[in-house]
Amino acid sequence: TFITFEGIDGAGKTTQIQRLATWLEEQGLRVVCTREPGGTRIGDAVRSVLLNPRHTEMAARTEVLLYAASRAQLVDQVIRPALEEGAVVLCDRFVDASIAYQGAGLGIGEEAVRAVNAFALGNLMPDLTLWFDIDWVQARERLLAARGLGSLDRIEQRGADFFDRVASAFRALQIAEPGRIRRIDARLDVEAMQQEIKRVVWNHINN
Ligand code: C5P
Ligand code: MG
Repeated sequence: TFITFEGIDGAGKTTQIQRLATWLEEQGLRVVCTREPGGTRIGDAVRSVLLNPRHTEMAARTEVLLYAASRAQLVDQVIRPALEEGAVVLCDRFVDASIAYQGAGLGIGEEAVRAVNAFALGNLMPDLTLWFDIDWVQARERLLAARGLGSLDRIEQRGADFFDRVASAFRALQIAEPGRIRRIDARLDVEAMQQEIKRVVWNHINN
């Protein structure tokens, strides 16, 4: 089972994934937890190129291709092998993030991003995607409380207009694919969110 987690920065994905992984292991399942960009040695090198705040000159097409490159490596090296061994794979972001961030946020367009990613992924898509729905103002508060202004990466430093486009794109994706993409209310507190996530994931695994 391949499960991905999406939403704007500060929605709380990382915290929830860690807790869910621990709980699924307690239920006796094999769990592989990963993230992107990154999750492999090569992907982590790409990640540092992507997120370096000094890289202000990066072309939008370059950004699309680097995310896709990190994703291709993660799919071949980590995700497919783990799925073949029967593990539950939890991935912090996946192709939906590129449709939202690069497709809508940067204005590259959904079709171009899908085409690049079709090459990068083959036909692998998540079985289930949890979209953490939160407004930008609240997400930003969480991000700043957790990390402080100076630690925002190159993408997180973008403004409200960019993140409005990203958030709208996630919403549109959920409406287009309600079976795969489930909305999680990310305004809830950590505990309430975790209960809801466990319920959705457990139902999916047992059906
Ligand atoms: O989730 P995390 O904050 O670790 O992601 C790293 C950065 O990459 C974030 O700033 C996120 O917004 C950005 N990102 C992106 N496009 C993607 C995936 C992640 O801009 N497709
Ligand atoms: Mg982030």
